[in-house]
Amino acid sequence: MADGRGPPRRIRVRRNDPHRELRLDIERMTYEELLALGERIGRVNTGASEEIITSQLKTKLYTPNYPIVDLNELPPDDDEETNTCIICQEEFKFQENIGTVQCGHEFHVDCISKWLKMKNECPICKLKAVTPKKD
Ligand SMILES: [Zn+2]
Ligand SMILES: [Zn+2]
Repeated sequence: MADGRGPPRRIRVRRNDPHRELRLDIERMTYEELLALGERIGRVNTGASEEIITSQLKTKLYTPNYPIVDLNELPPDDDEETNTCIICQEEFKFQENIGTVQCGHEFHVDCISKWLKMKNECPICKLKAVTPKKD
């Protein structure tokens, strides 16, 4: 093991290859392909900023319209949809923080905030969720 030191440190950097490939690819792309690429890249930034979310999202504490008196008299399953956050599939619980987007759909504040950072649109109806003030 006397001469075991000094491993070959030659790192083959073929600088040209990956870059050239990329460039050539883009040059060869059709207009439609470029648009698609731009859209794919652009999608990263379609979310709303935390500032916009906190200032534009209407929030409230969840309180059911009916008084919870008898647990056996819960409303039928049909009504469940409106009381469920479709992002996490959890039912709203009493006094939970609920966020309402522009279209009126409701979600947990935490869930919709995370969602809006990725995508500024309602997960249910795909309408724009919050609009930054343009002043
Ligand atoms: Zn949720
Ligand atoms: Zn909606």
